[in-house]
Amino acid sequence: MNNAAPLRDSFGRVHDNLRISVTDRCNIRCFYCMPETGVEFVERREILDFEEIERFARIAAGMGITKIRVTGGEPLVRRDLPVLIRRLAAIPGIHDLALTTNGVLLADLAASLYDAGLRRLNVHLDTLDRERFFQITRRDDLPKVLEGLAAAKRTGFAQIKLNAVAVKNLVEDDIVPLALFARENGFEVRYIEFMPLDAQNLWDRGKVLLADDIIAALSRAISPLTPIPDPDPRAPATEYAYADGGGMVGFIASVSRPFCLNCNRIRLTADGKLRYCLFAIEEDDVKGLMRSGASDEAIAALVRRNVAGKWEGHEINSTKFVAPPRPMYSIGG
Ligand code: SAM
Ligand code: SF4
Repeated sequence: MNNAAPLRDSFGRVHDNLRISVTDRCNIRCFYCMPETGVEFVERREILDFEEIERFARIAAGMGITKIRVTGGEPLVRRDLPVLIRRLAAIPGIHDLALTTNGVLLADLAASLYDAGLRRLNVHLDTLDRERFFQITRRDDLPKVLEGLAAAKRTGFAQIKLNAVAVKNLVEDDIVPLALFARENGFEVRYIEFMPLDAQNLWDRGKVLLADDIIAALSRAISPLTPIPDPDPRAPATEYAYADGGGMVGFIASVSRPFCLNCNRIRLTADGKLRYCLFAIEEDDVKGLMRSGASDEAIAALVRRNVAGKWEGHEINSTKFVAPPRPMYSIGG
C-alpha cells in the first residue's frame, strides 16, 4: 500500500487532521470531564515519550495528515511541552499546529510556546464569574486563566479561541458576558454542546444547552448572528458572524447537529492508542507496536486499518448510542 495515498475511510472521508493527547493529567477538575477526587491516571511509563509522539506524527504526515492539535488532559502540565511543539512544528507537511489548554499555566508558557512555533490556541473558558468557575472546575483559578489569556494576546498569537462548554441550567448567564469579553479582546468563542464524555455519567440530553438557544440569546442581546460559509467545510464548528461586524462565534453542536459526515480526524491518546472517533469503542495499540520494534510501514498499516474500519458516525441521537468507556480527559478532547 502506498503510504502517500490519502487516508480515506470506507465512506470516502479523507483524514488530514490528527489530535494528539500528551497527558491524561490535569490541574483542574471540570465536572463534565473528570471526577472531583480519586482520578486514576495512567502510569508515566505508559505515556508516549516525545520521540514516540514525534515518530507517529511524522508517519501520519507521510500519510496526508497536515493538521495537528495538541491536547490532553491539560497539555501544559506535561513537562517541556514547548520542546515537543518545536519538534512537531518542524515536521514537513504539517501546515497547521494548534493547542487546546485550560489556560491555568499559560501566563508562564505563552512566550515559549510561541517561540517554539505555535500560532493557534484554544483556551477553555466557560464563565467570567469566579464562583461559577469554581463550581465548574472545583478550583479557584479564574484569575490565572485571565492572566494566561492576556499573556497570549500580548505574545501575538495569530488566533485565540475560547472553548466554552454549553451546559443547560448552569451557564446561561455567562453566554453574553463571555461573548462580549471575546469581542473586546479579538478572541472567538466556540460554544461546545455538553457531550456524554464525563467521568461520572452525569450527562443527559436535558443538560445540553443547544447551539440554537445560544444563537438566539446572542442575537437578542448583542447583534443578529448569521451563518457564514466555512472555507473548510469539514471543520466541526459552524461559524456565525455578528451583523454589526463585531467578529464571529463558533458552535460545535455535536448533539443537535452531528458533523460525522464530514469528519476528517484521528486521535492518538496519551497512552498511545489510535481512535478514529471521540466516541469510538474500539482503539488500536500504536504504543505496543512501537515498543515492540515495529517499522514505520507497520505503524502506517495500522493507521490505514483503523481508518478503514471507521464507523459512519457516533449515532448520539439514536437508541443505539453507547458512550465510550474512556472519559474526555483520558481520550483527549
Ligand atoms: N484541558 C484542556 C482544556 O480543557 O481545554 C484540553 C483538554 S479538554 C478535554 C478539551 C476540551 O474539551 C475543552 O476545551 C472543553 O471545552 C471540552 N470538553 C471537556 N469535557 C467536555 C464535555 N463533556 N462535553 C463537551 N466538551 C467538553
Ligand atoms: Fe482538565 Fe480540560 Fe478536562 Fe477541564 S476539560 S478537567 S481542564 S482536561
